Amino acid sequence: MTAAPAAPKEKKRVWQRRVGKDHSQAIRRTAQFCFFALNLWIGVQFYHWVKHYEVAGAPAVSRPPGVEGWLPIAGMMNTKYWLITGEIPVMHPAAMFLFIAFLTMSVLFRKSFCGWLCPVGTLSEYLWKLGRDTFKRNFRLPNWLDIGLRSLKYILMGLFLYAVVSMSARALAEFLESPYGVVADVKMLNFFRYMGTTAAVTVGVLVIASIFVQNFWCRYLCPYGALMGLASMLSPLRIRRRVETCIDCAKCARVCPSRLPVDQLVQIRSAECIGCLECVAVCPVEDTLHMTLVSAKKPVPAWVFAVGVGVIFCGLTGVAMLTGHWHSPVPEWMYQELIPRAREFSHP
Ligand code: SF4
Ligand code: SF4
Repeated sequence: MTAAPAAPKEKKRVWQRRVGKDHSQAIRRTAQFCFFALNLWIGVQFYHWVKHYEVAGAPAVSRPPGVEGWLPIAGMMNTKYWLITGEIPVMHPAAMFLFIAFLTMSVLFRKSFCGWLCPVGTLSEYLWKLGRDTFKRNFRLPNWLDIGLRSLKYILMGLFLYAVVSMSARALAEFLESPYGVVADVKMLNFFRYMGTTAAVTVGVLVIASIFVQNFWCRYLCPYGALMGLASMLSPLRIRRRVETCIDCAKCARVCPSRLPVDQLVQIRSAECIGCLECVAVCPVEDTLHMTLVSAKKPVPAWVFAVGVGVIFCGLTGVAMLTGHWHSPVPEWMYQELIPRAREFSHP
């Protein structure tokens, strides 16, 4: 009788702990902080500029055109106007340059506008982190509800896109040069200054929901983020996992603010990936999880993200300033007449 052959020994997987400190989150937080501070400064300056027209004797300050970054619909309208006429629009041109800058970032560096710059995204991130630190966890909605709610932002985006796409060049110019269009930024400020009960309750609910559920606004409702996400599908960058060296610890998936199953996929192609690199930062194994170029498979370090986002932002705003397309050429008398009456104007 011959002995049965011994079962082959299972090969023990040897893994190498990652050496060196990861600086991606420090770099990202610096970018978020700088952009948040810039927006805070823009907001305060804009408030004082509006006050100058409302209150006799209030000191005159210059209008910060960067406030038009908060007019994404005007940015889309102007981009369409430019594409069909070849002319840079007169009213709110900064909105167009900023919109194109944020879209370009998303196409090149995934949804980096959301993960690296957007002040609402930054606020949202700190709210859920506050919730996690206070209650030791964040909450997840059941899958059926999560999927259903996630479609809301695409529906909203579709409605806005449809409204813009269906307008002719003439209709776009008439809209933006109407009294409502000229003071669209003032009306946005007034929304926050003179918030009605319904709006205040809605904002309050969103803030509370954001403490308990990660990125509640961004994940379910933000149409701008939805558009940036679709643009990011064209990005040459994506998170890539090396299955051969991965030890299946699932740390990457647990830390992902977009709740993507990073530990189960080879590449992350999802429109929800905000390019935050949190997953890369926590991976304990050397050379296993990276943001890479699709073709070269070469890791793209966090500083490239920061520099890329910065160059696109400064480059496009710089072009707008140098070519004289940063300020809206609205005469002083028109602002004097329209700003105190801004609350009277409704959608034309
Ligand atoms: S997959 Fe990674 S880079 Fe993308 S959102 Fe999740 S943690 Fe951030
Ligand atoms: S963090 Fe993710 S990619 Fe890295 S070893 Fe763990 S499961 Fe694998």
